[in-house]
Amino acid sequence: MKIALDVDGVLADVIKSWLHYSNTRRSIITKNEITEWNFWKKFDIKPDEFDNELSFCWKSWKKIPPTENELSNTVYELANLGMVDIVTARAHSTDAYVKNWLKTQNITYHKYVSVEEGPKKAELDYDIYIDDSPINAEKIANSRKNILLYSQPWNLAICDSRIKRIEKLMDAVKIIKEHKSSFEN
Ligand SMILES: [Mg+2]
Repeated sequence: MKIALDVDGVLADVIKSWLHYSNTRRSIITKNEITEWNFWKKFDIKPDEFDNELSFCWKSWKKIPPTENELSNTVYELANLGMVDIVTARAHSTDAYVKNWLKTQNITYHKYVSVEEGPKKAELDYDIYIDDSPINAEKIANSRKNILLYSQPWNLAICDSRIKRIEKLMDAVKIIKEHKSSFEN
């Protein structure tokens, strides 16, 4: 079984770093106000501006917190169930920072796969995706693949029987254990 594990918003809480950056320059935004994937529109931030600022935050990768404790153990448990690749959509200039961050967090994985755009993930050969993007989740579900959506304020509007929501990464371990045979189709 091949598992694609996302980084931003699933392992790395990069939005916290971005909020810290943005809130010193613009009016204050809280994480719970980020209720849409394209939330930046609402705050008059241009998409390129947001992307560049996220890349800038990754430059200071040492300051990016993990989304939850014990990630190293949880990813290890996932790796006992299948082959775990890191599958991330980003500017390639930030790949080295992400790899450093994963290493520092003691997160081990089979392959590191970096794509230009999130929806491209659905075209890759994986049985299960763990992702926080509502757009990727729909694309993956439309490709008849399994998607576990990591709950974040920006994906709470998603309600689709094909998309299983998880609150913690350990929920993915439990779900995959329970449904292993159906995931391997
Ligand atoms: Mg993500």
